[in-house]
Amino acid sequence: MKLNKLTKEEERVIVGKGTEMPFTGEYDSNFREGIYICRRCNAPLYNSKDKFDAHCGWPAFDQEIKGAVKRLPDPDGYRVEIECANCGAHLGHVFEGEHYTDKNTRHCVNSISMKFIPKEKK
Ligand SMILES: [Zn+2]
Repeated sequence: MKLNKLTKEEERVIVGKGTEMPFTGEYDSNFREGIYICRRCNAPLYNSKDKFDAHCGWPAFDQEIKGAVKRLPDPDGYRVEIECANCGAHLGHVFEGEHYTDKNTRHCVNSISMKFIPKEKK
């Protein structure tokens, strides 16, 4: 598998399972049309149509691209960690039962774990 070279900060979050500061990520308030791919392996992770504003300081999605995201119990014992299913890059955490959207699911994802590809205008 070919992996992109990461900066120190990307590595801290993606490999070291860190968290970027809230309201600092480049995609928190990005609502353009497109897809979000894994910063490390380029696998498509989320569609812009599934993004919503949870006012939590990180990009939020109520659904992943089918099969793109793996859920794991977080070592903290209560949260559920999410990873890129293809390369294992740390993305963030998933929360359920908060009633933000009909799907009742919030993928709370670090901007730095993803890369946004705007939809091409025809
Ligand atoms: Zn990946």
